[in-house]
Amino acid sequence: MSDIFPKGSAWMNEEFIQLSEAKIPILDWGFLRSDATYDVVHVWKGRFFQLDKHIDRFFKSTEKLRMPCRFSHEKIKRILAGCVKKADLEDSYVEMIQTRGMSPNFVRDPRKATPRFMAFAVPFGWILRPEDFEKGLDVYLTDITRIPPSSIDPTIKNYHWMDLVTGMLDAYERGHHTALLVDEDNNISEGPGFNIFSVDEKGINTPDHGVLEGITRQTVFDLAKELNINVNKKSITIEMLKSSEELFATSTAGGVMPITKVSGENIKQGKVGDVTRKIHKLYWDKHLDPVWSTSINDILL
Ligand SMILES: *Cc1c(COP(=O)(O)O)cnc(C)c1O
Repeated sequence: MSDIFPKGSAWMNEEFIQLSEAKIPILDWGFLRSDATYDVVHVWKGRFFQLDKHIDRFFKSTEKLRMPCRFSHEKIKRILAGCVKKADLEDSYVEMIQTRGMSPNFVRDPRKATPRFMAFAVPFGWILRPEDFEKGLDVYLTDITRIPPSSIDPTIKNYHWMDLVTGMLDAYERGHHTALLVDEDNNISEGPGFNIFSVDEKGINTPDHGVLEGITRQTVFDLAKELNINVNKKSITIEMLKSSEELFATSTAGGVMPITKVSGENIKQGKVGDVTRKIHKLYWDKHLDPVWSTSINDILL
């Protein structure tokens, strides 16, 4: 049973436990209704990257869902650092979750539930493994519409993933690495857990609405400024996507990842481009910079 779990630790009900012991009741609305929010931050060489930004986004998500988190920013930092320490991981993927909780007496009113907070740390996961960097990703462009902002506020990090999971299945069955979904106007939106950037002669472009405002996406805006590269937040049409100079995806699970093929067709020569390379390098350089990262040990002092 515990074999299916990676090395990891969790925190719930005021204590650190083994990952395999972390369980929620079947009646929790987080499970029954995907009524939950979460955030993911990573640790690289013992340092959290952009930790405060992730916790701030998490707090905003819980407030927008009208279930504000009852823990302080500081307490969450210590919980997350504690999970990584207990799991004894140098490089880690760390997730904090808050579900709606469960109904005290089977009423349907979400306000009656007490939210449940939990967190866990597992080994760092890659959407694109470093050894495959030069190959890049082949993303399958689906015709699936990402859940529109008029239905669910996409700036709340959420588990409404059926559209994304369907996209992944379509992509895997056709032999591609991952999927890209469109928005209601048939422009590009995002993929399963990543934002998308297109590079053209004017700079880098990324959708301005209908997507999760990724911390890595924001990091790319900051890095582009440092590198004097222009950023345009605007709709990306399918034609723009296919005629891009370069394409890349961004996510806490893997960072800045080159996309060299769309549905099996090369983007340019199907090689990793210079802009992607520069941003990728600076992104990883910042991981050891105290302005951008925080050591686990400093948090646990
Ligand atoms: C988490 C996530 C991203 C990437 O956000 P980061 O903060 O950069 O990890 C993009 N899209 C969706 C739907 C996500 O859940």
